[in-house]
Amino acid sequence: MPLSASHDHSPNASEDRLCEACLGRMKSTGAWTFECPSCGFLLSTLTPGIGTEMDGLETLRRHNYERMFDRIEPMMPLKGARILEVGSARGWFLAAAKQRGALPQGIEPEAGNASLARAAGHRVDIGYFPDDLAADGLHDIIVFNDVFEHIPAPSQIVSKIEAQLSPGGLVVLNCPSSNGIFFRLAGALNSLGVSGPYERLWQKGYSSPHVSYFNPSNLQRLIERNSGLREAARFRLNSVARAGLWKRVKDSNTGIGGALMFAGIWCVSFVLAWLPPDIEVSIFRKREI
Ligand SMILES: [Zn+2]
Repeated sequence: MPLSASHDHSPNASEDRLCEACLGRMKSTGAWTFECPSCGFLLSTLTPGIGTEMDGLETLRRHNYERMFDRIEPMMPLKGARILEVGSARGWFLAAAKQRGALPQGIEPEAGNASLARAAGHRVDIGYFPDDLAADGLHDIIVFNDVFEHIPAPSQIVSKIEAQLSPGGLVVLNCPSSNGIFFRLAGALNSLGVSGPYERLWQKGYSSPHVSYFNPSNLQRLIERNSGLREAARFRLNSVARAGLWKRVKDSNTGIGGALMFAGIWCVSFVLAWLPPDIEVSIFRKREI
């Protein structure tokens, strides 16, 4: 007697996958995506990797790092603060931290990027958090800039982050949001059969695709369910800088499609501040004792 599809026990069967955030049962939504119907957490089966394509992003990233420090500083004095950035890439965030008087260090698995950051004078361990981190004390602030969504099984790393934090320390998670206007538009296009923008937002086909797509609510649930960390702040960042936009778009879209996408994003960029943000930062605090 043939088994029905519901008896498929392959590793990709949705019945095998529980939500990282709320432990609900994940539902298949495509060839490589799953969604939690309860909390909206999204998961892909894309293969995690290392490295990052930064072309056209430097202006935006550096601007956003300043906005982040403007928000962090009232929560914790930055002068002398021991800051660890996980996935420190070329060291742009470390440079911004140093400018604010902090004592930053990074950990980065991609050796070429780590070397660039070291050459710029930053302290960077090569490898993965927390196993390859040189053991020399706790950190006041641990930051993940566009990194947390690349980590397989994120729920399992939360207690390890908490263990590396000093009492009262902060975890800063800067992640793309599935509530964002561009993600929603891309999702709508994807359901109509136009998959390019959706695949681009997941970084499908890139060196390090997204494994998870969070929104601030299910991210809070994931962190607080797996640790004593508690959310202390949440704010939006810009996902588009008009400077560098053309370079960013033509990287993955050529010809008339790229030109149309550039024109569309350029126009939307003027009203983005009033639309659901595609990048949100969530900050969690560890208890004092
Ligand atoms: Zn869920």
